[in-house]
Amino acid sequence: TDESEWDVLDIDGDGEGEQHVAMPTLAVVGRPNVGKSTLVNRILGRREAVVEDVPGVTRDRISYEANWAGRRFMVQDTGGWEPDAKGLQQHVARQAEVAMETADAILLVVDATVGATTTDEAAVRKLRRSKIPVILVANKVDDQKVELEAASLWSLGLGEPRMVSAAHGRGTGDLLDDVLGALPETPREGTGVAGPRRVALVGKPNVGKSSLLNKLAGDERSVVHDVAGTTVDPVDSLVELGGKTWKFVDTAGLRRKVSNATGTEFYASLRTKSALEASEVAIMLIDASVPITEQDLRVISLVADSGRALVLAFNKWDLVDEDRRYMLEREIDRDLVRVPWAQRVNISAHTGRAVAKLVPQMETALESWDKRISTGRLNTWLKEVIAATPPPMRGGRQPRVMFATQAGTRPPTFVLFTTGFLEAGYRRFIERRLREEFGFDGSPVRVSVRVRE
Ligand code: GDP
Ligand code: GDP
Repeated sequence: TDESEWDVLDIDGDGEGEQHVAMPTLAVVGRPNVGKSTLVNRILGRREAVVEDVPGVTRDRISYEANWAGRRFMVQDTGGWEPDAKGLQQHVARQAEVAMETADAILLVVDATVGATTTDEAAVRKLRRSKIPVILVANKVDDQKVELEAASLWSLGLGEPRMVSAAHGRGTGDLLDDVLGALPETPREGTGVAGPRRVALVGKPNVGKSSLLNKLAGDERSVVHDVAGTTVDPVDSLVELGGKTWKFVDTAGLRRKVSNATGTEFYASLRTKSALEASEVAIMLIDASVPITEQDLRVISLVADSGRALVLAFNKWDLVDEDRRYMLEREIDRDLVRVPWAQRVNISAHTGRAVAKLVPQMETALESWDKRISTGRLNTWLKEVIAATPPPMRGGRQPRVMFATQAGTRPPTFVLFTTGFLEAGYRRFIERRLREEFGFDGSPVRVSVRVRE
């Protein structure tokens, strides 16, 4: 597999790939002390593990980025939390369940020197129903002596126990080869969504970002700072909306309400970038009561470049009259050409008007952002589109589109394999038709071309 294939997707033709390809996730589960952390460190090939993300509300699941034989994937370590013995069995079974929902392959680690315990068996009962690959790891097989004991783990019914010594590295290379064989190229649908979905509130100063956050949060009580005894990163706010928890990222400045006067344009753009980077969906606020400005366009540009899902919120609607509405429509036609796919909602953070509509809009946008079209369906559709409207000739030759595949999600990214270059206009046409057919409201869609000789 050629990892670089995913990185080189260059959509805007500036010579740099701008893809954020989502990576598949390997979950490591098992009871405490079997050597999960040791194994994770072995997989990462380093002692100090850099925290890539903290997806859960509670911090008992941490993901790290790993790279083996040129393939990148996420490793989810479920260790770190030791419940009392009574709750242990339930806890480990629950972790196995969560892994089945959120990962693309699972390692169940068992201590070969101890053999199968009732807790291991509880996890196995869950994992037998798993639709994703499960690999049984017999750890602490430091020498041949232990191998015999490890063989008894066949009895768990998860197939051959892979014998390793995480501490010494024995057998871990072979194990990782097996892992790569079991992991899909890209995450399956809906994975990596282990925690609350992450929202960025962006927009130039004074559009009403902090007012909206306050409105959404209602009173202080619905902003969760402390969940299950763990402190949430103080720069983010967890907010309950529509029966779900959402994580509004990088809101410290909004909450504290630092003076806007001190925020230079440069600083504002850094803040916007870092919030977008941390988010999955952005709510971009525009002050509907005054003309759209250069500053708005710069933020739109950052949002468009980020590849995040997007909802456009036209705020201060309480100040908008008939005339202004007319003008605004003209401005939108002129200025929002980079994000015509974004859904719009006219709100007032002041009165609360239509603020509740933001939640279904974010949900739709994220659904689009996560969406995957099967290769079969994609190509059946593509064949018809191309037969009806073939690509324009170039240099007296007709480029042929042979095949298409969705190379990634978040955002959906399509690759067309062709015999010649396709003009930007034709790629935009393909994108339009893709949207008509499959519906990607609220999400960017990327179409790139790979020319084959
Ligand atoms: P976790 O609780 O499952 O994450 O387990 P740890 O990785 O913290 O390991 C628990 C203990 O087992 C530690 O003292 C490790 O040094 C030890 N351990 C881990 N892997 C091995 C191994 O392959 N062989 C031996 N002998 N000990 C190991
Ligand atoms: P931020 O800089 O983007 O966080 O903007 P703020 O939330 O501080 O809002 C800037 C100003 O706009 C404040 O005086 C708010 O009271 C006002 N404002 C925010 N939302 C609305 C709205 O929906 N209607 C009206 N009339 N004023 C608003």
